[in-house]
Amino acid sequence: MPDDNRYSVLFESVKIGPVTAPNRFYQVPHCDGMGYVRPRAEAAMRGIKAEGGWGVVSNQETEIHPTSDLSPFAEGRLWDARDIPGLRLMTDAVHEHGSLAAVELVHNGNHSQNLLSRAPMLAPGEMSVDGSLPKQARTMDKQDLRNLRRWHRDAAIRARDAGFDVIYVYAGHNMTVAQHFMLPHMNDRSDEYGGSLENRVRLTRELLEDTREAVGDTCAVAFRFAVDEMLGRDGMQAAEEGRAVVELLAELPDLWDVNVCEWANDSMTTRFQPQDGYQNDYISFVKQVTTKPVVAVGRLTSPDMMVSMVNKGIVDFIGAARPSIADPFLPKKIEEGRIEEIRECIGCNICVSADSQQVPIRCTQNPTMGEEWRRGWHPEKILPKKSEAEVLIVGAGPAGLECAMQMARRGYEVTLAEAGAEVGGRVIAESAMPGLGAWKRVVDYRMNDLQQRANARLFMESALTAEDVLELDIPNVFVATGTHWRKDGIGRATQRSAPEIDGSVPVFSAGDIMAGQGPDAGPVLIYDDDHGYIAGVLAEKLAEAGQQVIFATPETMVSHFTHLTLEQHRVQARLIELGVDIRLTHVFGGIQSGQATLNCAYTGRTTQVEIASAVLITQRVRETALYDALKGKGLTTLELIGDAANPGFIADAVYAGHMAARNFERHPAEVDAEWFRREITALTDEG
Ligand code: ADP
Ligand code: SF4
Repeated sequence: MPDDNRYSVLFESVKIGPVTAPNRFYQVPHCDGMGYVRPRAEAAMRGIKAEGGWGVVSNQETEIHPTSDLSPFAEGRLWDARDIPGLRLMTDAVHEHGSLAAVELVHNGNHSQNLLSRAPMLAPGEMSVDGSLPKQARTMDKQDLRNLRRWHRDAAIRARDAGFDVIYVYAGHNMTVAQHFMLPHMNDRSDEYGGSLENRVRLTRELLEDTREAVGDTCAVAFRFAVDEMLGRDGMQAAEEGRAVVELLAELPDLWDVNVCEWANDSMTTRFQPQDGYQNDYISFVKQVTTKPVVAVGRLTSPDMMVSMVNKGIVDFIGAARPSIADPFLPKKIEEGRIEEIRECIGCNICVSADSQQVPIRCTQNPTMGEEWRRGWHPEKILPKKSEAEVLIVGAGPAGLECAMQMARRGYEVTLAEAGAEVGGRVIAESAMPGLGAWKRVVDYRMNDLQQRANARLFMESALTAEDVLELDIPNVFVATGTHWRKDGIGRATQRSAPEIDGSVPVFSAGDIMAGQGPDAGPVLIYDDDHGYIAGVLAEKLAEAGQQVIFATPETMVSHFTHLTLEQHRVQARLIELGVDIRLTHVFGGIQSGQATLNCAYTGRTTQVEIASAVLITQRVRETALYDALKGKGLTTLELIGDAANPGFIADAVYAGHMAARNFERHPAEVDAEWFRREITALTDEG
């Protein structure tokens, strides 16, 4: 690191109990959809974080016992010694780069549903299980509490034997029994574990003491604690009981990992919390109460903010989950003064959605995330070019930009042609919508990189025809021409019978609204059979502009997909607050004489709604005309990529662009045969 690096404070080593972190970059525990199901993939991903300079690399919540069974989710698992080798892969991968490995032990109480183990669910008192399963957890008696302490202690010893340096006690996200005991609405006990705060904290105190006694000579004991539930007086608040808990336990752990809960508050999207460092107001008191090091999060990507947080005494460690996912090499880039090269998290929570869908983590900004082991992808390294071949990429949306950037990194001569006056494609349109401004980082990062490469040329306002392409005489062509939104109302629910639209009111597509066209008059019907974020965002935009909006969808909630990005409740609340008239479980039936027909999704019963305009958001149409016209024209390579090949998320488009660049000039048979590595369960005699 250069001596004058103004970020040098971030690279000081920090002692955590008996171990020492090489710097202040701390990847806090985060789920990754790999866990015990895909231990090699998990190990490789965490190893890359260590290689990228994270001084502490944590795994994810790690079940200590079958009564805390999060199946079918692929979290960490340490039920018994057979789980050690899988975790050892990770600790070895992290240690290889001189970083510390941390494990987040957990008992999830009534948050686990024990679907695999069929064990009883446990809680401080009688209560329903978390979620919508019609089952209950039972009150833990004294024997259960003794068992829990033993399970936790044994798991801590197994964690140490797996090579972990930092071992967590976890009371956060409203997902763990230690926290459940602290919260008055979950703990109505009349014994020494209920009542006063001191009693409600007793279990956590015992777990911390047990862990220290079991492994504290060699491992640091970390405590992850949610200081505020963000419910005001209806929940635990940092200013009151949150602080009191820190006071009660101040010197007991070797490290405080503090945040807010629930998960949707901790991992806020930029749509609902644009401010990086948004947790500082809640957690800044902690360092005044304890002498132990403190780590905190809040989508921290700005090195200046990191330095100021350390210098102001708010934290000792810069905590990150999402910023480390978007850029595993963030610390190294700061260390080497390559600040402009940081791939900043856009706060979209596509990473979160993957975990919730029980598949390996993915990231909009970092297409290599989750592919470190199965495809061998590295976020900063790519094979150099195999020849002097030239490459033309048509369309500078996320797919075209990523493809062009990676091709240029490989060393090929790259020409990128864009029809519009601006690069970015759908990202430019979508990032101009309410709350999505940070998404433009997808374009900024790639443009910054491309502009520095002498082997990349960009042509704007160049809507290429097949003749133009052939005239350029570049034999390798990647077509990333994207999609446009259809506006005929045809989608999932109307596939069998196309809605009849008589032209009595103007009808717009999502693209029209994003381009600033119409509607001039309301009431405007927004019909959503896409279920992503777009329809909700457009409803918000139009309602904010003063339009009377009717939002209809066949789904049971607004913007259904957004529950996977932890936003759905906020999306729906915002539309309600904006006065949007929400009609759930209704299928669009057509428009006749200024009346829209909405059919009940269950009974087919029809409702007529008077409207002055409509925005029909159902599906997109792939732009394949150029690709089709180039087929059979003798090009060496002709590939359709991104949304034009498969409409999906921005993350999918970036991924497709990345994949195309990686696979260029590889033999098709090799690419085909490879597909990706899988972790297949090995059958042993033991079973
Ligand atoms: P993706 O998500 O796959 O990257 P987008 O829809 O975001 O797709 O971007 C596609 C881009 O391609 C848009 O910016 C569009 O202007 C551009 N484009 C479409 N057709 C052509 C063409 N014939 N020549 C040049 N650019 C094109
Ligand atoms: Fe950030 Fe989105 Fe990547 Fe998650 S998926 S790390 S929120 S950019």
